Amino acid sequence: MNNEPALESEEHQLARSTRAVHVPSTGDVRGRPISVPIYQTSVFAHDDPDELTASLNDPRGGFGYSRNGNPTVRALEQAIAGLEGAVGAVATSSGMGAIAVALGAHLRAGSRIVVQKSIYGGTSGLLADLVNRWQIEVVQVPGDDPAALATILADGGAELLYLETISNPMTVVADIPAMAAVAKDAGVITLVDNTFASPMLCRPLELGADIVMHSTTKYLNGHSDVTGGVVAYADEDRFRAGWSHAVTTGVTPDPFAAWLTLRGLQTLPLRMREACANAVILADKLGGHPAVERVHHPSRTDHPQHGLAARMMDASGAMLSFDAKGGHRAARGFLAAVRLVSQAPSLGGVETLTVHPAGSSHRSFTDEQLAAAGISRGTVRISTGIEDVGDLWSDLQQALDTTE
Ligand code: PLP
Repeated sequence: MNNEPALESEEHQLARSTRAVHVPSTGDVRGRPISVPIYQTSVFAHDDPDELTASLNDPRGGFGYSRNGNPTVRALEQAIAGLEGAVGAVATSSGMGAIAVALGAHLRAGSRIVVQKSIYGGTSGLLADLVNRWQIEVVQVPGDDPAALATILADGGAELLYLETISNPMTVVADIPAMAAVAKDAGVITLVDNTFASPMLCRPLELGADIVMHSTTKYLNGHSDVTGGVVAYADEDRFRAGWSHAVTTGVTPDPFAAWLTLRGLQTLPLRMREACANAVILADKLGGHPAVERVHHPSRTDHPQHGLAARMMDASGAMLSFDAKGGHRAARGFLAAVRLVSQAPSLGGVETLTVHPAGSSHRSFTDEQLAAAGISRGTVRISTGIEDVGDLWSDLQQALDTTE
């Protein structure tokens, strides 16, 4: 491939307006860049027309158009596929985009899907939309009840089972091996949202799931400066179907967002280790505070899936929630009183954030839906960051003290 202004010769000098557009390339770069370069280009030139066509049709081939494939984006996809033990991954422009791709590539109008009770409110919203628009049937099941799943599947089958490794915001842990085994026996695809756990804590494909997705906005990037998602596949055909759906619907990400995510990914193990250790300490201290009714964190012995979490995950996660004794008023008081910790509707960054699920991620839920998801108006969610845990507790404690 030659980027030099080809028409230039002794007889023919290019005009300045042409030279301004056709910047000469730097040629072969001698030396290997340590950081993945940002290929901030929407399109790639080829001399061979067949090569160009092939580059548009193959998720593993060359590059033609960045919506179909981009080297920086592919580096991110390969890195995450490696962490999740997947054959391939498709990066998207948001976590919701990843869910839409993972579902959309495998559902048709009228499909039936079985969904874990108590999941992220945005996902519930997407499912409600699919029900209204495409007559998708959604059946709920507890994430740790393979017998209930078997009964549902015996009674009408399904296309897909949807689980969250650790649910948002109540930290319910799905029994992925048992649920995926039942699904597999019935020929049903298992899709797991692994956002809260990250591949450092749990690798759903190793446990029998077929597809795993993340909001990379959260732990994988880890610095609250990117919106992104990824879907990773155990199977080549499903990977290609997911890639094709992402390209057609146009939810593929920008190279710079992919680069930022790659940069964050490099410190994922360190961040997760620190944040998970902090969460265990904070869960313990919150549990002993008189203004707290109940703490929800898989490290707690009273957590319903405490034993399962210990068996299935390498740590109990950095997300926790608690129910304030004084209900909604106390939760609001707490959120208004935190100083070091910010009230903000995201998670998984290096900084500790807190939020009121009933007023943010689950704001569209009715009181009945909140109750069914185990969320009260006094529930507060905390995404534990990597700050000094003593500083964090001082802040949470003074905020709780104001609510008593
Ligand atoms: N899955 C979970 C568990 C989430 O918490 C979120 C967002 O909070 C999403 C998916 C959606 O991700 P995004 O906001 O990147 O679209």
